[in-house]
Amino acid sequence: MRLSSESGAPDVHLNLNVRGLKPSATVAINERSDELRRAGREIFKLGLGQSPFPVPHPVVRALQSHAHEKDYLPARGLRSLREAVAGYHRREQGIEAEADGVLIGPGSKELMFLLQLAHYGDLVIPSPSWVSYAPQAHILGRQVHWLTTNAKGRWKVGADQLDAFCCEDPDRPRILILNYPSNPTGATYTADELRGIAQVARRHKVLLLSDEIYGATHHAGRHVSVARFYPEGTIVSSGLSKWCGAGGWRLGTFLFPRRLDWLQDAMAAVATETYTSTSAPIQHAAVSAFTGGPEIEAYLAGSRRVLAALGNWSVAKMREAGIAVQEPEGGFYLFPDFTPLEDRLRGRGIQGSRPLCERLLQETGVATLPGVDFGRPRQELTLRLAYVDFDGGAALAGAEGGAALDERWLRAHCGRVVTAIERICDWVR
Ligand code: PMP
Repeated sequence: MRLSSESGAPDVHLNLNVRGLKPSATVAINERSDELRRAGREIFKLGLGQSPFPVPHPVVRALQSHAHEKDYLPARGLRSLREAVAGYHRREQGIEAEADGVLIGPGSKELMFLLQLAHYGDLVIPSPSWVSYAPQAHILGRQVHWLTTNAKGRWKVGADQLDAFCCEDPDRPRILILNYPSNPTGATYTADELRGIAQVARRHKVLLLSDEIYGATHHAGRHVSVARFYPEGTIVSSGLSKWCGAGGWRLGTFLFPRRLDWLQDAMAAVATETYTSTSAPIQHAAVSAFTGGPEIEAYLAGSRRVLAALGNWSVAKMREAGIAVQEPEGGFYLFPDFTPLEDRLRGRGIQGSRPLCERLLQETGVATLPGVDFGRPRQELTLRLAYVDFDGGAALAGAEGGAALDERWLRAHCGRVVTAIERICDWVR
């Protein structure tokens, strides 16, 4: 289709920042996996990072009873939900939180985009980082600076490293996004590490966006928010998508300190001119999720146990096959590094993470995402694996009563992930 009569190219009217922009890598791998499945291939979907667990019953019941809610809601969110979210942060993380500091949005991804739109600071992110931070910055014409990390340091950014980076240009406004437990690595930060980063961020007046969307999936239930150490400069991001299994419901939350009212106000103003407000029935239902209770606690305890058992089993298997990989501390991702097998892979014509994932998909049916999509060097043999291709409802039921989650249990309840990991290990051998 030609839209321009003068130039041959139909995309000349595209904003330069979106010209050549491809659909998000995680969404694309999911669509590709579905296509291959429809074509009759057996595909193991370890590409898209979606919670395997169903939405907890009390939250589903709340949505059913609020289906009739039809009015637009305030752009910042339903008052009772903002109160419940503030209560959640106080209760779970022991941080100061008021309803006025809560902003509800249609997914935390959208709120992150609004943040980068409203604040003109450069974006600073670790490599590897979740796939959408950098593309959002590019769409908005913001600079992106990657802080490189390595497997030895569990893919984490250090306070000294951040300090050295900020000292290069001390007065530059910056947004640092810290995400832990991490997508893609499954690693989390200790309280001491967070304290160190907080001190440096304060010294350099860095705005910290702490993406804690996987916080409640910390495998030992011991997530610590960096807002404890840098309350005045930290925005805490969370939502229903991960710990509550409700990615498709599209509800995200930001918690602002009072000192950043001006930023919250600007984002809320943009919200009124764009999406108006987040879906009303979903907001009403989310009140019950953030209020919590024994059923939700049991659901979380079960989810964590299953994720820890499956993640640790997968790590042990991959290590036996010579793949370097860290044990996960939260979330449902692993970030294996195939560099120890570099010679063998090169002999098969595989150099770099894209060919690695492509050949894995073609030859074993296991869908994953290449490290390059997370900001790693093209030639590095890393990939992200989301160990979520199993029926989370059946797994939670099977884990009830304290059953030992050993290999036999994992084969019975998370068989597709077990098979996928075994296929990867056989393939490298
Ligand atoms: N941050 C991270 C690290 C994520 O993995 C995701 C979802 N994949 C999001 C933010 C966005 O989540 P949502 O928009 O569903 O709240």
